[in-house]
Amino acid sequence: MLEALKVILEVQELDMKMIQLIHLKRQRQKELANINANKSSLSERAEEKQRDILEIKKMIRLAEGEHGEVLERMKKLESQQASIKKVEEYNAITHEISSADRERLAKEQRLSDLYDRQTAEEEILKSLNESLESTTESCKVLESEIHESIGQINDEGRILKGERDALVVQADPDAFKIYERLLRNKKDRVVVPLESRCCSGCHIMLTAQHENLVRKGERLVFCEHCSRIHYWQESKAIEDTVVATKQRRKRTTKV
Ligand SMILES: [Zn+2]
Repeated sequence: MLEALKVILEVQELDMKMIQLIHLKRQRQKELANINANKSSLSERAEEKQRDILEIKKMIRLAEGEHGEVLERMKKLESQQASIKKVEEYNAITHEISSADRERLAKEQRLSDLYDRQTAEEEILKSLNESLESTTESCKVLESEIHESIGQINDEGRILKGERDALVVQADPDAFKIYERLLRNKKDRVVVPLESRCCSGCHIMLTAQHENLVRKGERLVFCEHCSRIHYWQESKAIEDTVVATKQRRKRTTKV
């Protein structure tokens, strides 16, 4: 393998971990944003309900006033009627009284509707406030969990960055510049092995000539399809054994 690529491969592994961390952090931040959006939508609805109720109360006051006026008018008409002797006048007032009575009934119906609406809206407001309270309560644990997890992610990120900085100073500057540019574009591994003439980045087959160049490892060789840098894995069989041994070792240390 090209010497310049060895350090970059190590950096790349750290960068992959970093990308995962950033992804995880964004996810957790999105969860926080969702919780907050949920809460503010509930409180907005409660405020809206509160305004509706105030509006209904105003209408009730108005209707109560009008109802009182009708009653007043009826009382006057009745006392007026008591002192009247002429039949025509008496009948005219009876007619006025009954029309005022119809008005009274209509006002009472309207008032009763408004009282019903007020009760219904107040019940909705109550349940909105209750669910806002319970959401706030139940989210408290979740929120602190998310904040804690973001804190951990930040810590891990700092450690990774420290390790990365230490490696970067050892890397070949030109190759590293190319690596960083590719990484910015792909946000994925950009230094990849060529396996059986196949790019393990884009999985497209390359020529024997290309394979030879990679195998020689004299300069950087790029995939002509995806622009990734190719390297030659000395022997797949040996690598596999190394991985297997590592895994075995891991398993024994765990036990
Ligand atoms: Zn490729």
